[in-house]
Amino acid sequence: MKYMDEYRNPQLAKNLIREIKQSAHRTWNIMEVCGGQTHAILRFGIDRALTPEVQLIHGPGCPVCVTPIQKIDLAIQLALETDIILCSFGDMLRVPGSKTSLLSARGQGANVQTVYSPLDSVKIAQQNLDKQIVFFAVGFETTAPVNAMAVKKAKELGLANFSLLCAQVLVPPAMEVLLSDPYCQIQGFLSAGHVCTVMGYHEYEPIAEKYKIPIVVTGFEPVDLLLGIKECVRMLEDGKYGVQNAYTRSVRREGNVPAQQLMKEIFEVCDQHWRGLGSIPRSGLRLKSDYADYDAEKKFHLIPEKNEEEQTVCIAGEILQGKKKPTDCPAFATICTPENPIGAPMVSNEGACSAYYQYEKR
Ligand code: SF4
Repeated sequence: MKYMDEYRNPQLAKNLIREIKQSAHRTWNIMEVCGGQTHAILRFGIDRALTPEVQLIHGPGCPVCVTPIQKIDLAIQLALETDIILCSFGDMLRVPGSKTSLLSARGQGANVQTVYSPLDSVKIAQQNLDKQIVFFAVGFETTAPVNAMAVKKAKELGLANFSLLCAQVLVPPAMEVLLSDPYCQIQGFLSAGHVCTVMGYHEYEPIAEKYKIPIVVTGFEPVDLLLGIKECVRMLEDGKYGVQNAYTRSVRREGNVPAQQLMKEIFEVCDQHWRGLGSIPRSGLRLKSDYADYDAEKKFHLIPEKNEEEQTVCIAGEILQGKKKPTDCPAFATICTPENPIGAPMVSNEGACSAYYQYEKR
């Protein structure tokens, strides 16, 4: 297909839906890992069109939703208690910490600025040499290269007033946690095309082998998603496992090697706490010791609270693990709405609760 519009071609999508339904001889449980894919699936009604042959389970791939509450509290503490400029993607501002949010902190006078890229934060650092600038670096492998580039650029420019508050997470270890659950219902995965564009898909091959499960690299447009689901159903029906690439216009097995090299130069793998999933070994990135001067936690001697899951009505943890759907939550669309969110999945553009609120409710 030459043109982007063709990936939204309704007739092509209808044909693929018919082919998937005809090829499935039972119900298959397939998880889309990425929150962007969840929104596209809900927006275009793909989940409803494929029921009952395919049950789509929504995964933990919403970076805002899995950012640990303790990191949000640290960001709020930094913004309120120090004379810094805290830069963040807009989504993070309304996510509740243990007591308040960055948006409320801004209302209390903290200097919290929304940026579209960490490189914008480097520019702010250049323009405000008398201030410390901290970028709240959340996200999956998709954001890690540009965050690494921001640190590298700050170092090249000799900026001593720039640092990262780092909450970077990695997808494959979280997939393993889900698959290790004895009650796991997932029979196949759609892996996120943009993550694989950066990282390639070779790191999913040992997972597919170990858990004997199909993993299909999948894009974000309706036809992309249906091509990924079709391939996954074909493998399941044939009793096959392994990794297939249904997003060839963007993804190569080896991924974007220069981006990976940049990540490796600046970051190292570490254990990471995920909101709703708990601590996952080797599932995060932190700055290497050579770049400790750019690590906000070290620079400002921040000590995070012990990682504990919050006790609220919110069932975000079970939703992020694919065990429940947003509509199972008693607070959904009653006391929890995008205007008054209780949990992160209702805030984020990639959160499952906000997707259900926008598209299912309608
Ligand atoms: S609807 Fe709100 S309270 Fe319920 S799980 Fe989603 S974010 Fe949490």
